[in-house]
Amino acid sequence: MEKYSFVVPAYNEEKNIGILYDKLCNLMAEISQNWELIFVNDGSRDRTLDILKDLAKNDKRVKYIDLSRNFGHQAALTAGLDVCTGDAIISMDCDLQDPPEVVVKMIKKWKEGYAIVYARRQNRQDNFLKKYTAIWYYKLLDRFASVNIPRNVADFRLIDSKVLGKLGGMKEQSRYLRGMVAWLGFKYTFVDFDRPERLHGEAGYTWEKSIKLAMDGIMNFSMLPLKLGFLLGVFAIVLGTIFLSYMIFDSVFHNTRYELIKWLTVVIFMAFGVQFILIWILGEYVGRIYEESKDRPVYIINEKGNFDEDIDVK
Ligand code: UDP
Ligand code: MG
Repeated sequence: MEKYSFVVPAYNEEKNIGILYDKLCNLMAEISQNWELIFVNDGSRDRTLDILKDLAKNDKRVKYIDLSRNFGHQAALTAGLDVCTGDAIISMDCDLQDPPEVVVKMIKKWKEGYAIVYARRQNRQDNFLKKYTAIWYYKLLDRFASVNIPRNVADFRLIDSKVLGKLGGMKEQSRYLRGMVAWLGFKYTFVDFDRPERLHGEAGYTWEKSIKLAMDGIMNFSMLPLKLGFLLGVFAIVLGTIFLSYMIFDSVFHNTRYELIKWLTVVIFMAFGVQFILIWILGEYVGRIYEESKDRPVYIINEKGNFDEDIDVK
């Protein structure tokens, strides 16, 4: 029988844990008895850990990991994923903004043969600022990221254990999990849902943490920032050349006299352009070092056929 793993990072979620647990129990009663619920306490300052311990004492399917301090949502999620043993792994938030009911649909899709099922939010009840920064951010990411990272999905998703196995091979330190899962490939699909408000407590994602996550997305999956030097360089050189040509033309044909400072300004402007180009070249090398240092696998195999046992195709 298939086993299901739920991974739930929790940061100051004392009021939500019990409710989430109850809901998942009810839900899974219909689907399977073979499941585990892994909570990762991400350095909470409230009674989260005590509540988790109580739960775990009464129900062996509930497991918890207590991190030594607040490492952030992506790190906490990684900790949970590292210890999962299910055939299908569902990651979700603790605040019931990822409604457990949606899981039923996700499991259905998984049984149809999809290795990754993303839950995609239909609406955003966030405030004006958060809503529009999110829209523009996803546009930017869509345009420049090296892999196609789906829009409007966070970390509410189901992955097959084979995807998890490959994810385990991605050892990078700054983790943007939704991008990493997208990078892995595999057959994926979406389940749409309306995202409700957080049930109890306050959002642990401060602006600071959100910005860091957004930066990780851009920096880890796009080399655009490094290419800026190229654009600036070309811009300065082209503009400088136009100015210089005009000044030469003007002096030769109209006998206009330009002061030395004007000649110098234009020449120095162009020299800046050359410097930008050099910085860009440097950037390309730094980018390659960065890519190498992530030590990602070169390819990911979905299936293989007819190989002898002793040939080790990973
Ligand atoms: N979370 C965490 N560590 C943090 C911040 C948040 O583990 O430093 C957890 C939190 O308990 C919740 C999930 O990550 O389960 C999403 O956090 P939150 O609800 O604050 O984010 P939002 O819904 O505002 O994006
Ligand atoms: Mg939330």
